[in-house]
Amino acid sequence: MAAVSSAIGARPICPWRVLRAELHVLRAPGAQRAVVVTRGAAIGAWVVRWLVPKRGQRGKDGPVQSNWSKSPGVESSKSKLSRVLRLAIDASAAEAALDPENADLESFAQQMRRVLELKRPQRHDQIHDHELAPLIQKKWWTQLGKLVKAHEEYQKPLPTNAWISLRLDGCCWGTLMARLKASGILDYGFRSEIAETMIASCRAVMCEFGAVVGYTHSDEMSILVPPLTELPSHVSWWVSIAASVATATCNRMLAALAAQKGLTLEDRILAHFDCRLGVFQSPLEAESLLLWRASDCNVNSASDAIKFSGAPMEVRSFNTIQKLIYLQRRGGLPLQRHQAYGSLLRGGDGRVVLMNSGAHAQPMHLLNLCRNASLLEGPLDADTAWPGTTPQCRA
Ligand SMILES: [Mg+2]
Repeated sequence: MAAVSSAIGARPICPWRVLRAELHVLRAPGAQRAVVVTRGAAIGAWVVRWLVPKRGQRGKDGPVQSNWSKSPGVESSKSKLSRVLRLAIDASAAEAALDPENADLESFAQQMRRVLELKRPQRHDQIHDHELAPLIQKKWWTQLGKLVKAHEEYQKPLPTNAWISLRLDGCCWGTLMARLKASGILDYGFRSEIAETMIASCRAVMCEFGAVVGYTHSDEMSILVPPLTELPSHVSWWVSIAASVATATCNRMLAALAAQKGLTLEDRILAHFDCRLGVFQSPLEAESLLLWRASDCNVNSASDAIKFSGAPMEVRSFNTIQKLIYLQRRGGLPLQRHQAYGSLLRGGDGRVVLMNSGAHAQPMHLLNLCRNASLLEGPLDADTAWPGTTPQCRA
């Protein structure tokens, strides 16, 4: 059996070694069902591709053409399964090429993207109402996050040829939500009003800096500003303006929510954000920040939904797939789009558009959306704008 070249780099990957590794995963105690289904299909494809024609060759009177294995339906299944197998091998090779010692964000982000493109989104026969992304081990996301965070240590005057990221995080958010709910401004559970508040705050920061992309979930938002901006080059100017714009917009929205219920916002109910600035040399590096945050959203959304569902404490220690199965069985899926996948906003031509609304059967999960195209490029589709308003950046 000829060795198959790795999809990334020149390291050869032996298909039999990959197969042995896959079987090892299937036998491992506690193997996730989605992993078993995906990898089992790949192994099935292997069997059909290599064993069925050989069975035809073992006839009494020399080589025999197996009618069954040559029928159009089987040929079509064989080629389909063969494709699945090749993808599984390439994906395994790409994942095997990931290097935990790699300190170069550009090359690591390129490898992670390749793995995402090759791996199929997970499927699970007990999860019907939630979009699953390709499975990538947590350690690789942790590694990506470490590399991204290293780019947020920048203290010098900002270069004009780099992408700038602004990553804002709500401070004491749990306390803020508890006070809003105790004062009657919000009902208990996940609240779409807070999702809209975060989207509005994210949009305001995007418009302030001429950003092309913003992504928000939970109490955080990440904003990407393209190179060649004419704004001041001091890091302190950027982070203080971003944090104050987000804080002001969020508090204005909360005051409006209180007014709708005939209430006044108490003095102690005050949202505020901290902000980190990152400098990235390429769109790929900048995009990796979004992918890292989207992977975090994937884990946190299931945990939050379990918390709001009033599930027993032991359920909180389940892994993400087990939590989703728990929610599915109890009618807790689908989650609201923003809660499940966050909101990806694209800016341009004075407009800000929601890109992961799920319109036109497009994925809502960023880790699936990025498999088709870069999250930073492509036309702004007016059909995908969120309903109710035509959001415009201020002049
Ligand atoms: Mg926070």
